[in-house]
Amino acid sequence: MEPTSNPINSQHVAVIGAGAAGLITARELLREGHTVVVFEREKEVGGLWIYSPKTESDPLSLDPNRSIVHSSVYESLRTNVPRESMGVRDFPFLPRFDDISRDPRRYPRHREVLAYLQDFAREFEIEDMVRFKTEVVRVEPVDGKWSVQSKKSGDCSNDEIFDAVVVCSGHYTEPNVAHIPGINSWPGKQIHSHNYRVPGPFENEVVVVIGNFASGADISRDIAQVAKEVHIASRASESDTYKKLPVPHNNLWIHSEIDSAHEDGSIVFKNGKVVYADSIVYCTGYKYHFPFLETNGYMSIDENRIDPLYKHVFPPALAPGLSFIGLPAMGIQFVMFEIQSKWVAAVLAGRVKLPSQDKMVEDINSWYASLHALGLPKRYTHKLGKIQSEYLNWIAEECGCPLVEHWRNQQIVRGYERLVSQPETYRDEWDDNDLMEEAYEEFGRNKLISSHPSHFLEPRG
Ligand SMILES: Cc1cc2nc3c(=O)[nH]c(=O)nc-3n(C[C@H](O)[C@H](O)[C@H](O)COP(=O)(O)OP(=O)(O)OC[C@H]3O[C@@H](n4cnc5c(N)ncnc54)[C@H](O)[C@@H]3O)c2cc1C
Repeated sequence: MEPTSNPINSQHVAVIGAGAAGLITARELLREGHTVVVFEREKEVGGLWIYSPKTESDPLSLDPNRSIVHSSVYESLRTNVPRESMGVRDFPFLPRFDDISRDPRRYPRHREVLAYLQDFAREFEIEDMVRFKTEVVRVEPVDGKWSVQSKKSGDCSNDEIFDAVVVCSGHYTEPNVAHIPGINSWPGKQIHSHNYRVPGPFENEVVVVIGNFASGADISRDIAQVAKEVHIASRASESDTYKKLPVPHNNLWIHSEIDSAHEDGSIVFKNGKVVYADSIVYCTGYKYHFPFLETNGYMSIDENRIDPLYKHVFPPALAPGLSFIGLPAMGIQFVMFEIQSKWVAAVLAGRVKLPSQDKMVEDINSWYASLHALGLPKRYTHKLGKIQSEYLNWIAEECGCPLVEHWRNQQIVRGYERLVSQPETYRDEWDDNDLMEEAYEEFGRNKLISSHPSHFLEPRG
């Protein structure tokens, strides 16, 4: 989609957050002719990808008065998606072989993602629009507009009126802690992955890691380098699961989920095994949380379902003035931000129309009914799984932008299969060179790279 030089309707828009979603949204709003203010409580762009060794005072992050550390990135983190599919479509996440401070690997370390987001902000001059160290403390509808109250560190709060607010505040900061029967009398240490940074504190310990998806798989292996034993509890595994996993120190096991915890330090798994553990690490995900949002009870969050949201973006009665970017969990996050924010920008400009409120509510209810028919609980509302590309393509068609590329979808599918089958090696050993070639050839055709595609594909020592 080309930028519209003559927008139908230019709006004054507040964007909350200067992580990947906020940066991409600010760019799309500008392209559509809107004026934009981005509020960011940190002092730089990048959101989640700004690594901090700091953690919260409460290792489970349950204390409502704790001071918040935004990032959940751990020191060893590498991306779980190949860089070709991770990057924004017209600003690909290319390896930089010319700068030794950069990590040119296909699945780079977290600092490389931050550097890419900084490059993006510079290229599209987003930083000029960002008010750093400014936290949004309240957002509410007022006479058809939106009041945004913000607080700059040390100053009093400031109230401003905007035509629209786009929420890009991230959703990997408020931990979800699984309940274990008997945990209140269990004497060991407990921490959520949000507060995990390095394995050192677990040296020589027996550790139970709950959860075996991306973070659980990584963190259990990270800790196994220094711990005596690591035991993964996996809800997705059969109840009799008990298997030793191949790691250098031969000290990692996978079990079914936990049955109970006890005063004597034991953890009993559903497979009947008993482990006397020093620590539990919860890799049990996060909760949606918008403490600044006041909608007079119109919106609610119940079991991690944000209700009501048309296509996970617009609350019908408050649309298009309020919208949310980046809520569904999927493989191609940055491209989702791009497509969703193009839609929001086009709707705000009046170039694309939303259905009536009733139709939007009907659509939401039929989505809920389809989850219910499949026996899926509310917490699955924003998990799109196999229908993610269908979802993105629906929005792309709605606002007239290109559909998601074949190679990008396939890289996500095959990358996920590798993550499950070879969690230790999936970032360094792959079998989808064909898809990589397809990606760089397309970048070449679209003039997004200045060198020949082969420059990016040749192995380097
Ligand atoms: C451990 C981990 C690994 C991941 N790995 C990958 C990966 O490999 N590839 C991938 O594509 N995705 C990955 N993700 C998903 C990741 O969340 C997205 O890639 C993306 O960076 C999220 O961007 P965001 O802008 O939505 O949120 P964030 O990056 O969290 O940014 C939100 C911003 O909003 C600001 N903010 C929040 N509240 C306020 C407020 N009230 N006022 C002002 N500012 C506020 C925050 O300071 C922050 O800067 C990973 C997630 C986690 C947790």
